Amino acid sequence: MKKQEVVIIGAGLVGSLLSIYMSKKGHAVTIYERRNDMRTETVEAGRSINLALSDRGIKALKEVGIIDDILGIAIPMHGRYIHTAEGIHAFQPYGKTGEFINSVSRYELNCRLMDLAEHHGVSIKFNHKCEDIDWQKNEITFHVGQDELPVVPFSLCFAADGAFSAARLAHMLHHNKFDYNQYYIDCGYKELSIPAGENNSFLLEKNALHIWPRKDYMLIALPNTDGSFTGTLFFPFEGPLSFERLTTKEAVTSFFKTTFPDVVDIIPDLADQFFNNPTSSLVTVKCFPWIRDGKFCLIGDAAHAIVPFFGQGMNAGFEDCSILNTLMDLHGDDWETILSTFQKLRKPDGDAIADLAVNNFVEMRAKTADPNFLLQKKIESKLHERHPDKWIPAYSQVTFHPEIRYSTALANSEKQESIMQMVMALPGIEEKWDSKEVEDLILAQFNSHTNNN
Ligand code: FAD
Repeated sequence: MKKQEVVIIGAGLVGSLLSIYMSKKGHAVTIYERRNDMRTETVEAGRSINLALSDRGIKALKEVGIIDDILGIAIPMHGRYIHTAEGIHAFQPYGKTGEFINSVSRYELNCRLMDLAEHHGVSIKFNHKCEDIDWQKNEITFHVGQDELPVVPFSLCFAADGAFSAARLAHMLHHNKFDYNQYYIDCGYKELSIPAGENNSFLLEKNALHIWPRKDYMLIALPNTDGSFTGTLFFPFEGPLSFERLTTKEAVTSFFKTTFPDVVDIIPDLADQFFNNPTSSLVTVKCFPWIRDGKFCLIGDAAHAIVPFFGQGMNAGFEDCSILNTLMDLHGDDWETILSTFQKLRKPDGDAIADLAVNNFVEMRAKTADPNFLLQKKIESKLHERHPDKWIPAYSQVTFHPEIRYSTALANSEKQESIMQMVMALPGIEEKWDSKEVEDLILAQFNSHTNNN
């Protein structure tokens, strides 16, 4: 294979991981990153944003041989820990025994990935902000402080510069018939840190993803290795109960006391955090094409930014890198074929996980405390236990089965949901949910859907 000089824009999670794959293939890789080197900066205590790492991301990290490094800084979460408005707690396992997701600090993960990239010979140039790309000359202009605008030539460039990618904009503006679809949900989010207890003890159940579902909004919390939790409030921007209405410390404290009473006592500086921490928006981006000839490709959030409710944005970006790696093995240095096959495979999957993620917001905020929904999940989990090859719940397909494409998981989940809607409408389902009659009916429906497709 001909060795390439590869340029990657963005040393975030995906750009850093991609650089390791590329470097392991023998390519000379340089990453240009807008920010300063985060490893030289201190993160405020308790302000560690964390992410759920699951099997698709794990598969990629295994392939480049760094999974042990990463799992060493992760906390397994075996299920959802629901805190209802009535003060009832319930634990809902994510899957079968041994199936879990992992809470990992974004900062620590990104730092490790950059360390490992450099260890593999990657050069990272910080404070280089991509400004524009000249597609005729194949040159990228960066902004480097003051008025310095160095120009970097490239023959192969990956844009991993995130949801608001500047490289994507340069690609889009100079492309005939570029499809671009961006939409914001009506909720924003705000992070609220739950500190550790004495001696770094965890003030909530450690090995779970905590959810306070409240129908139109929710609070979630993921554990950190220092005993703290990162809480995130997903809340409407506007309306009777919304960020725009909570304008005083008293209003915030009173809202939390009524709505999340078990949280108020464990966040002593709640109102301060509420006003000091930013309110951010959540965007989905779908675009096409992702590639330009055999020389340029969008990857990660730059190609498919999604809302965080399936915990898959980073995992999907890591899976992009893994698929690209397989295509490099198959097609050597035929970059036209590698990139066009990558786009053909991944675009439908990027679109599918974007839709699954939006749908899961409704499930998390409104349904996790709904008895009907819980009964439905109980039926599905029994079916999965009895017929593991036939019925895999949608959450498990996405989270624990990297061999199932996102687009297949979406199609399967729609089929399963229509069957379950019919089953949940059966008179007396609460009593007979575990009966042979119900099981046979579901399997018959499943087989008929499968045969018809
Ligand atoms: P980014 O992480 O955004 O990195 C982009 C990099 O490019 C950054 O370093 C940036 O500084 C740099 N950059 C930007 N512009 C330029 C430029 N012009 N020039 C040079 N460099 C530039 N995903 C999960 O899998 N699990 C989760 O639990 C999860 N939770 C989330 C929770 C929230 C609240 C949010 C918002 C997202 C969550 N995600 C989660 C999604 C995840 O954060 C993203 O999918 C992931 O960070 C994408 O990685 P990336 O490298 O493509 O982009």
